[in-house]
Amino acid sequence: MFSKPDKDFMQEFLQDNIFKIISEAADEQQQECYVIGGFVRDIFLKRPSKDIDVVVVGSGIALAEKVALKLGKKAKLTVFKNFGTAQVKLNDLEVEFVGARKESYQRDSRKPIVEDGTLEDDQNRRDFTINALAICLNKDRYGELVDPFGGIEDLKNFVIRTPLNPDITFSDDPLRMMRGIRFSAQLGFFIETNTFDAIVRNKERIEIISKERIADELNKIMASRKPSVGFILLEKTGLLELIFPEVLALKGAETKDGIGHKDNFYHTLAVLDGLCEMTDNLWLRWAALLHDIGKPRTKRFDSRLGWTFHNHNFIGEKMIPEIFRKMKLPTNEKMKYVQKMVSLHMRPIVLSEEEITDSAIRRLLFEAGDDIDDLMTLCEADITSKNPEKVKRFRSNFQLVRNKLKEIEEKDRVRNFQPPISGQEIMETFNLPASAIVGDIKMRIKDAILDGIIPNEYKAAHAYMLQIAKELGVTDKK
Ligand code: ATP
Ligand code: MG
Repeated sequence: MFSKPDKDFMQEFLQDNIFKIISEAADEQQQECYVIGGFVRDIFLKRPSKDIDVVVVGSGIALAEKVALKLGKKAKLTVFKNFGTAQVKLNDLEVEFVGARKESYQRDSRKPIVEDGTLEDDQNRRDFTINALAICLNKDRYGELVDPFGGIEDLKNFVIRTPLNPDITFSDDPLRMMRGIRFSAQLGFFIETNTFDAIVRNKERIEIISKERIADELNKIMASRKPSVGFILLEKTGLLELIFPEVLALKGAETKDGIGHKDNFYHTLAVLDGLCEMTDNLWLRWAALLHDIGKPRTKRFDSRLGWTFHNHNFIGEKMIPEIFRKMKLPTNEKMKYVQKMVSLHMRPIVLSEEEITDSAIRRLLFEAGDDIDDLMTLCEADITSKNPEKVKRFRSNFQLVRNKLKEIEEKDRVRNFQPPISGQEIMETFNLPASAIVGDIKMRIKDAILDGIIPNEYKAAHAYMLQIAKELGVTDKK
């Protein structure tokens, strides 16, 4: 990763034509102009991005118009008059132009009162030292780095720190607390002590932030390489309790009569990190975070069995819509997928511990459908025992389940299985109205196929239907 501020890398970037054109345009308008913020930080971190922020000491809109004019047809200009900003799109690059501004905040809102300001004012309103770096684009100072708060030093030392008094920075805009924790997870940086302590002191201010913005930051933590870094910081600062109490409830390990259980918070994070090494699928990552969310509500102590969490997968599945709604996460098929993963997360493991029957495998394939591979990935990540022997045994049993899944899938094709006889056909054959008995016959045909009593074929299913109908005393009207 980053070792020292790489000036050559920066120079290389500044060779890009777009910067030359902005430079020319700014000089012609005699406006002071800088690239600033995340884009500059990411140059030094060698994470080049396509979003470029340009600050002008003057009019951002006027500069954008001039730049667009110079670029001609290939550029697309959009002006946001109300915000005093403008965007120029060029291929996959998006350049935002904004006038340098000074901000002052009121207690009940993260929307500041904005006035025109200097570069210094503009850097003062930035959230972290590493996000306040600016590079001048005017010709006579082209490539000059303006770093008033030691942002480069902090980049070198992997430190997240606010440029000004952190109590003011966070109280002004509490979203910055989430951003700081997110950067820490994304970049693998440490939050400097004063900055950390200020998050703890200002955590209650998070209540003025919209749920959507919090969800955005959580999703960025979830998409990072090691999300546990973010969740542990959220827990330690006290933010987790305020934004996601259900996850905090997983924390703690109780002991009774000398019998303990594992701390489900740290277990969950280990599962999540493990899964993240295997997949970038954001919603499968959410399923990992939530796979044991039902445990606190189902925890019981039994003198014979010790600690139990019966049905925690089903309770978890039921808790998810409420959590998604409250947190403004999408309540669509993504959520259904997470629910399905949570509800099924124990099945492959249980299978690996028992003798593996074809019928059990068919049922798992039927219920998981096309998500079977994701489910297997989740289950594999869920094997986190500290005992290496146990892990080894689980993994090899697990491999047996995988092999068997493949074998049955090839043979029976039950993954996207639709029972070959529809309810409609049952009703027509026996002249029945839509009723419980129709559902019953249909289910028994499905079960017979899954249990391997009959093959997954129309003819066999039809004959079987007639047979059960007879048993139930229903007669064939045709
Ligand atoms: P990412 O693009 O990964 O979300 P970023 O730091 O680039 O991270 P942006 O939202 O693109 O974030 O914002 C660009 C810059 O604007 C930041 O680097 C920072 O200087 C400033 N900024 C953004 N949000 C805030 C905020 N809430 N408070 C202060 N400065 C901010
Ligand atoms: Mg950005």
